[in-house]
Amino acid sequence: MAITDLDRYRQMVSVMDTPLTALKGVGPKVFARFEKKGLRTIGDALAYLPYRYEDRTTIKPLNELIPGEAATFKGVLKRLEVRGYRKRRVLEGLLVDERGSLQLKWFRGNFEWLLKKYKEGEELIGYGAVGVFAGRKEVVHPELELVEEDYSASETDPVIPVYSEVEGVHQRQLRRIMKQAVESGAKARAALVPPKAQALSGLDPRWWDSPGRIWRELHFPSKGGEDLQKIVTGCRHVAVLEEFFLLQVALLLKKSGDESVGGVRHSPTYTLVKKLLASLDYELTGAQRRVLSEIRSDMEKPSPMHRLLQGDVGSGKTLVALNSALLAVEGGYQAALMAPTEVLAEQHFKNISALLSGLPVNVKLLTGSTSASERESILGDLATGDIDLLVGTHALIVEDVSFSRLGLIVVDEQHRFGVMQRVKLAEKGRTGELPDTLVMTATPIPRSLSMTVYGDLDLSVIDEMPPGRRPVATKIIKERGRKAVFEFVREEAKKGRQAYVVCPLVEESEKVELKAAVETAEYFAREVFLDLNVGLLHGRMRGAEKAEALEAFASGKTQVLVSTTVIEVGIDVPNATVMLVEHAERFGLSQLHQLRGRVGRGGNESWCFLLAGANVSEDGWQRLRVMEDTNDGFRISEEDLRIRGPGDMLGTRQSGLPDFQIGNILRDGPLLEVARRMAHAVLDDDPSLGSQPNLVIKWVVERRWSSKLSLLYSG
Ligand code: ADP
Ligand code: MG
Repeated sequence: MAITDLDRYRQMVSVMDTPLTALKGVGPKVFARFEKKGLRTIGDALAYLPYRYEDRTTIKPLNELIPGEAATFKGVLKRLEVRGYRKRRVLEGLLVDERGSLQLKWFRGNFEWLLKKYKEGEELIGYGAVGVFAGRKEVVHPELELVEEDYSASETDPVIPVYSEVEGVHQRQLRRIMKQAVESGAKARAALVPPKAQALSGLDPRWWDSPGRIWRELHFPSKGGEDLQKIVTGCRHVAVLEEFFLLQVALLLKKSGDESVGGVRHSPTYTLVKKLLASLDYELTGAQRRVLSEIRSDMEKPSPMHRLLQGDVGSGKTLVALNSALLAVEGGYQAALMAPTEVLAEQHFKNISALLSGLPVNVKLLTGSTSASERESILGDLATGDIDLLVGTHALIVEDVSFSRLGLIVVDEQHRFGVMQRVKLAEKGRTGELPDTLVMTATPIPRSLSMTVYGDLDLSVIDEMPPGRRPVATKIIKERGRKAVFEFVREEAKKGRQAYVVCPLVEESEKVELKAAVETAEYFAREVFLDLNVGLLHGRMRGAEKAEALEAFASGKTQVLVSTTVIEVGIDVPNATVMLVEHAERFGLSQLHQLRGRVGRGGNESWCFLLAGANVSEDGWQRLRVMEDTNDGFRISEEDLRIRGPGDMLGTRQSGLPDFQIGNILRDGPLLEVARRMAHAVLDDDPSLGSQPNLVIKWVVERRWSSKLSLLYSG
């Protein structure tokens, strides 16, 4: 048995790793084109699913096309010509069959190329949304292929896959290559989901019988008509569940691997924590207290903590983090607090120093702006254990900083770090014990997403705001309302309050963003708020300049602070009551929610004005209206995820978001939970996947995820 399994696995891997050049029709030139698309091996090709199918069994005569529906159609090109001139140029074609005709239109694109490619009298097959113009049916920007080109691929197939373009490779050629790849790939695919997990999938067991068939059907469905959708949806479901199952197995293995490594066992004395709490002029909220006790109980265990602390903006996460740090410090350990930006690290440092004044805790700040000599002295004091709590940016801590007895790492990540970066931090423990880790996120993450990005963490949620908070009144303002809003800011300033003005992200360029902020600040100072003090804050300023700008605003010297998104995180000026966001449509909802969280902190009534540019789309309005409708961070992040997709929401590259081949967190979110239960079912019986049939799962998981997740195995 054992040998067979290993053989099967090896065979599968060797087929999946076979370069596409092994296929007929793929020489070095064609291979280079595939490679550009990220397709190198049979395995890559197998995961390159068609984005739609052309169902040959349901091609309708042109006169039966239904306006409002997307359809595949076929006919002879009767005419193709450019009409109009200059900016009004339109390419128009007419397709006919025995029973009727269909207009084809292009408003943009390379007309010359299209004219050269499609000649009158040729038979074409097309796809697109059918519309009506002046009483005649039409398709604007159709996808077209010559029938000849397409049918020679496989005239007998009832359904033809349509793949996203591989530049320089015709669909026909692409299909021929894919057919070979899928044939050999599908044959080699072994079943990876054990029966016990299958039973939890909610699918008829027959779906799991033949993994090869799943992949064949996904690429070249065997049936058209009514069965097509059913088959393809079912097969996709199986493929996605398998993919999610493997990820969940990986995450659970990582979690149990982490737990089996020796961690720091804290023994807090409560001396510092009690003093801190007594010095506050408020009580912890119930949620803060509950979460703190969850953290403490983790810290007292010998296995390392991996906990995610989730709480809306302003829910008081920082205080919880500080209390956790004190629990560590009391017991003789050091703690580190990592922030995603320098500005935020400085803020944390300032707040924490103020809160700890009078307590015997040595806190230091280490960022990119720390001078070389200061840095050296900090590194020395860290190594001897003289520093109890180090606040800093993430990048620096990762480098060459070494602690004497690091017991707790708090990562205030505000969505900016992911699984991969966290792993590096955990290696900072030099005592042989893995320090405890607490990850804080500001915007609540939809469950489907947190199960993916943070699937290896335990979860604590602060679901209660400190008392006295008022919801921030939010209003979308059109261009013509601008003056009134400025007037409103002036009124607030006269009452002694303050305002933020945030400038838009223009593309991804920091330079442009910067220019916008600088210009806006000048414009505001010179033309709008002549009678007020206007400050400026942006990411490119030197540390000292930044600190100065922040200080001027915090002390009330400047009344209006114009800034880039650097203020998105962490800045805490309770006297600020107005948040004005320029070109709000260019921000993500979660970002807007963060920005809005900067006001409404001091018990005064507060406002958030979202200035919308002139060309906001209908989608854009809908998005902004969500902000008007709710202050609930969870609803907002769900909405954000739905509209923008997970990659954009988290910033794919920084997020540590797994790169799924088939699954899509948006569409398939609920399946993640199913997959988690499936993974649990298998690991509960065989925690290290050491027994025979499960070994293959372990190998596959290691191959696919281990470098990404730094899996630590107990065995
Ligand atoms: P978060 O980091 O979750 O966005 P903060 O920790 O910055 O929130 O807290 C926001 C503000 O609320 C801070 O000014 C903090 O001092 C205050 N705060 C925290 N906890 C409480 C509490 N239990 N009662 C009243 N105010 C609190
Ligand atoms: Mg905070």
